[in-house]
Amino acid sequence: MNLDFLKELGLAEDNDGTSTGQTSHHNSAEHIESYSPVDGKLIGKASVTTKEQYEDVITTAEAAFKHWRTVPAPQRGEIVRQYGEALRKHKDALGRLVSYEMGKSLQEGWGEVQEMIDICDFAVGLSRQLYGLTMHSERPMHRMYEQWHPLGIVGIISAFNFPVAVWSWNSMIALVCGDVTVWKPSEKAPMCGVACQNIWAQVAKDNDLPEGISSLVNGDYKIGEYMTTDKRIPLISATGSTRMGKIVAQTVGARLGKSLLELGGNNAIIITESADMDLVLTGALFGAVGTCGQRCTSTRRLIVHESRYAEVRDKMQKAYGQLRIGDPLDTNNHVGPLIDKDSVNTYLKAIESIKAEGGKTVVDGGVLEGEGYESGCYVKPCFFEVDKDSKMAQHETFAPILYIMPYSTLEEAIEIQNSVPQGLSSAIMTTNMRESELFLSTAGSDCGIANVNIGTSGAEIGGAFGGEKETGGGRESGSDSWKAYMRRQTNTINYSTTLPLAQGIKFDL
Ligand code: NAD
Repeated sequence: MNLDFLKELGLAEDNDGTSTGQTSHHNSAEHIESYSPVDGKLIGKASVTTKEQYEDVITTAEAAFKHWRTVPAPQRGEIVRQYGEALRKHKDALGRLVSYEMGKSLQEGWGEVQEMIDICDFAVGLSRQLYGLTMHSERPMHRMYEQWHPLGIVGIISAFNFPVAVWSWNSMIALVCGDVTVWKPSEKAPMCGVACQNIWAQVAKDNDLPEGISSLVNGDYKIGEYMTTDKRIPLISATGSTRMGKIVAQTVGARLGKSLLELGGNNAIIITESADMDLVLTGALFGAVGTCGQRCTSTRRLIVHESRYAEVRDKMQKAYGQLRIGDPLDTNNHVGPLIDKDSVNTYLKAIESIKAEGGKTVVDGGVLEGEGYESGCYVKPCFFEVDKDSKMAQHETFAPILYIMPYSTLEEAIEIQNSVPQGLSSAIMTTNMRESELFLSTAGSDCGIANVNIGTSGAEIGGAFGGEKETGGGRESGSDSWKAYMRRQTNTINYSTTLPLAQGIKFDL
């Protein structure tokens, strides 16, 4: 495999995992080794941030905030614009790294970098639109308005499956808001973090920026805990499993910090009597097997009207038969590997449990072996018929496992769809306006994302992204998500010569 993209991104065999911008801290004794799930080979090492280095990062970030918050927002936007330009230059290389380190298809790797570029563009526009409201005061000759100020240091903890985009959704918005950021990438994709930071270092150097505006730390949950327990970080934005989110929410909540949580999903498509089958097949197949079922928005459940049930099951079975599984950097393949062997074991155990609880196999799973599959991380996307009360279908197994179940009324389908603990993404396939409107109404989907005639997977950066219940309630990216990275201040200005007090209270002064 041609690995020139590593050089272009400034990656070496041994990389500093801690950086405050242009300066990386010297390697520590401990390292994370990153092995590619594509071919099982070592990509490189990133040093784990020591407690001492962490302290240095935070004090540098605190000092940088004092400067950055005074830079006018459109000028902060200009820096973000330049970062977007740098990403355009390195899109091919960074997309290849995402694909090689995480295992998603090259098209999806490039797509992830494109999302980063898009969020930069969005943030540049936003830098001139951090609007507050003006209110009419009840007091004469008084003016009242609100303004938004930055919070300080934003701590970003990210998951392995979107190793670059999730950071940029948070970071680019936080930066135009006047915050500084400290990022801990997933320990399963550390090289992606180092590469993004290297690109930042060049932009920081070109603009003579101080250290500490965008910093990187590396390691597992222990480094994450430095951040969640640290009072100097007013906001922790954490993306990952619900298990992690519950711990982070409690830790940050205990110090009355703010947390923005983007956690697991268990996303369903309701397929109605009137559904257009071409849309169903494309939406459901991409949703279920894209990124090898490792998207938070992956389609995990198909809830199908009983009149179309056999047709959907059989056509999906046929579609699964045409999937090409293999090297994700070969654009002819549809499905790449799982992230690691632990994930393969979780997938195998889930299949056992589905069968044990009476699930019927439509397309069976299994681990692929032989030439091209040496990493041991390639598995077959699989598909089971289950009851609507299936326990396994309540869980998010982060692998390409799809469930199908029948329904008879739309109310019942919505109830099944909403019956899981998670509430991220949902979809209905219908050509009936009454059905789509009910699905989108207050009595419809309880998820943060509800689509009509589009699958559950993928989202545009212009909308607010996130979900309810065990998905954590956070919203990132577009719409007014920026408000999570700022503090609101209400200001009242008296330009009269008197000071009227509430309830007519008077002092003899
Ligand atoms: P994970 O929870 O294992 O790890 C996520 C991050 O949290 C890692 O950086 C990890 O080091 C850190 N972490 C773990 N425990 C911690 C603790 N106690 N304190 C501080 N940090 C801690 O998740 P993963 O396996 O990397 O990612 C898969 C999960 O992420 C899935 O559940 C998926 O649905 C979810 N996800 C959600 C979204 C979303 O936007 N809702 C997006 C991507 C992924």
